[in-house]
Amino acid sequence: MLNIALFGPPGCGKGTQSKILIEKFGLTYISTGDLLRKEIAAQSNLGLAAKKIIDKGGLVDDDLIVKLIEKHVENNHEHGILFDGFPRTHVQCYILDGILADMGHSLTAMLSLEAPEDILMTRMLERAKISGRSDDNETVIKMRFKEYQEKTLPVVEFYQRQKKVHIINGVGTIEEISQRIDNVINSLLIARN
Ligand code: AMP
Repeated sequence: MLNIALFGPPGCGKGTQSKILIEKFGLTYISTGDLLRKEIAAQSNLGLAAKKIIDKGGLVDDDLIVKLIEKHVENNHEHGILFDGFPRTHVQCYILDGILADMGHSLTAMLSLEAPEDILMTRMLERAKISGRSDDNETVIKMRFKEYQEKTLPVVEFYQRQKKVHIINGVGTIEEISQRIDNVINSLLIARN
């Protein structure tokens, strides 16, 4: 099992790289952002509660994220799971470790995609033209960067203590970044064999 958490600030390319990774390694994809957007579209209580926070650029409460994961994560992952945008807080690191332990597994690695904020902002404003996402506008994006700095960066420290963090340069073409990720995963697979 290859259980990967793909980590990084808004706009770093997690969604794009996730699609490539799940194809290549046959991983189950769990994106809390996508699951929340599904709940919003379905107008569930969970979705309605989350929308208020997402539209302001905040982070959805950990207890709602637990409910979301319980609702959507099943226990049949042949090759492993790719988590995109989760964990995003210190508490969520414990939640993730608990979920994987229940399955008899653990996190293989956290891949942290890094890029400067000005590049991220440009990418996201470009994406906003086609994404239709209500949280892809400059004011909300700035708030999302702030939340990332304050609440999400401690997640890296948590997994650094477990020696599981791999920093990846997130500046370049999709192919270049994908190659960097591949190099890390291949080295993990070699180290395991
Ligand atoms: P994303 O699609 O990953 O960029 O997530 C979009 C928004 O959903 C974020 O700005 C948060 O408001 C919310 N969100 C997604 N995943 C989480 C999470 N793990 N914890 C808290 N909020 C989340």
